[in-house]
Amino acid sequence: MKKSEMKFATKVIHVGGHPDPETGAVMPPIYQTTTYAQESPGKHKGYEYTRSHNPTRTRLEECLASLEGAKYALVAASGMGITTLIMHSLPPGSTILCGDDVYGGTYRILTTVFHKIHNIIFVDTTNIKNVERAMKEHKPQLVWIETPTNPLLKITDIEKVTQLARSHKALSVVDNTFMSPYFQNPLSLGADIVVHSMTKYLNGHSDVIGGCLMTNRKSLYEKCWKLQNTLGPSQSPFDSWLVIRGLKTLAIRMQAHEKNALKVAKFLEAHPKVEKVVYPGLKTHLHHKLAKKQMKGYGGMITFYLKGDIKKSKRFLERVKVFTLAESLGGVESLIEHPAIMTHASIPKKLREDIGISDNLVRLSVGIEDSEDLIRDLENALKSL
Ligand SMILES: *Cc1c(COP(=O)(O)O)cnc(C)c1O
Repeated sequence: MKKSEMKFATKVIHVGGHPDPETGAVMPPIYQTTTYAQESPGKHKGYEYTRSHNPTRTRLEECLASLEGAKYALVAASGMGITTLIMHSLPPGSTILCGDDVYGGTYRILTTVFHKIHNIIFVDTTNIKNVERAMKEHKPQLVWIETPTNPLLKITDIEKVTQLARSHKALSVVDNTFMSPYFQNPLSLGADIVVHSMTKYLNGHSDVIGGCLMTNRKSLYEKCWKLQNTLGPSQSPFDSWLVIRGLKTLAIRMQAHEKNALKVAKFLEAHPKVEKVVYPGLKTHLHHKLAKKQMKGYGGMITFYLKGDIKKSKRFLERVKVFTLAESLGGVESLIEHPAIMTHASIPKKLREDIGISDNLVRLSVGIEDSEDLIRDLENALKSL
């Protein structure tokens, strides 16, 4: 069967997953090597040095490309490594229009590193009029969006923003980490590049740091690959192998995350000690209709506002037992965190509060445990407030 004809749950297992031609090993070898023997100087099988290429990584890239329906995928040692490559691929002095509610690390790298070579403009991309105005005023070379946003789960219309970018000859990038390719495919909605932190859902087991980009543009892919070879944030063969292993269950994991998240969101929505629940799958979500249109599901991330102050929030976060108090997301285990103190502390307090990251905001990464245990755990912790 051609890989383009396979369904998602087949692709994650079989694309790039052919048995080893030499031994028949069903699972791909970990090519734990830095260098490759050459037949004659310059004559080799496409592999020279592992910073540039590695066969385990090649298999992972082949699978990842198929999941976003892309011609090319590039894997790096972290999501931030991928962001670094994309930023360096632009000519110095470029203007970047970036969503104002993005991953804290994205905000940090743009405002503390890349502002030295590019002009960085932040805009609320959930409002298309804002984007249109900012495009006209700033004439960006690249538009960077994240949808749903982190942690407030606001939805940007990918089709509209990428179309606007195209009409202004700007490239568009979508950070698709929160949805994974199972629930959202930005390239098919018009994006030039899609990026993922593989650390989250793609690997799914909270034991690897990694990032990737997928694109149909050969020149962009080649530029980023050359930069990776030069700058050096390549992923180790073992980590690539772990992601190959994690990916195999991506389809069933995403289904389980979503099923649990919907139950947890409904439980929280009905609880008297909860002020407000934000989950794109709830009809009360500000952008529920758009979410329904451009996503195939609503994912496993929930944020909610407790009734109370920072003291109560802290107490609640200390009392949960099944949820682990930790940063990050997208693993099989449920995590809970406090964005203002933890993941989003690098955003200035005033800006943080302006966009709604207040002291009573809590973020959940709902795992795939039994939903009754998750709900009981939250119920017990809420009871203690
Ligand atoms: C974690 C994350 C990143 C950064 O990825 P790392 O693998 O931690 O470098 C980027 N974007 C989003 C949305 C993330 O959640």
